[in-house]
Amino acid sequence: MSQDVLLPAIGPDEAPFWEYTRKGELRIQQCSGCERLRFPPRPMCPDCHSTDSHWTLVSGRGTVWSYVVPHPPLLPQFMPLAPYHVITVALDENPTIRLLGNLVEKAGDPINAIDPATIEIGMAVQVVFEAVNDEIHMPRWVRV
Ligand SMILES: [Zn+2]
Repeated sequence: MSQDVLLPAIGPDEAPFWEYTRKGELRIQQCSGCERLRFPPRPMCPDCHSTDSHWTLVSGRGTVWSYVVPHPPLLPQFMPLAPYHVITVALDENPTIRLLGNLVEKAGDPINAIDPATIEIGMAVQVVFEAVNDEIHMPRWVRV
């Protein structure tokens, strides 16, 4: 599908995140020293400074922490999608872990298919994955 006109640039720190999304798993980097979850991925724990980490499978459930409806001027590639929205999801396992994404009715729906006026802060959501291409399986969110 072509709606994701700006796809993530995948570097070495976040490569495992995307490897797991290709398997349909939402995993968050976790410090092997103090067990703190951290996102976005980075080489060192900000608490204990350990460089050892592992990737922990999470439930994929969370709540809408906030959302925005971008207004023009937009990048030209996004103009046809307006109005659309971007949500911030706080994970159930640790609400300080927040991921950006889009609310959809089901994986594969366009990011502008849901009326932003129906989005409520605090609503429960569940991750789904959309295979945008062979490399990027984008986490999206559906209402629970
Ligand atoms: Zn740590």
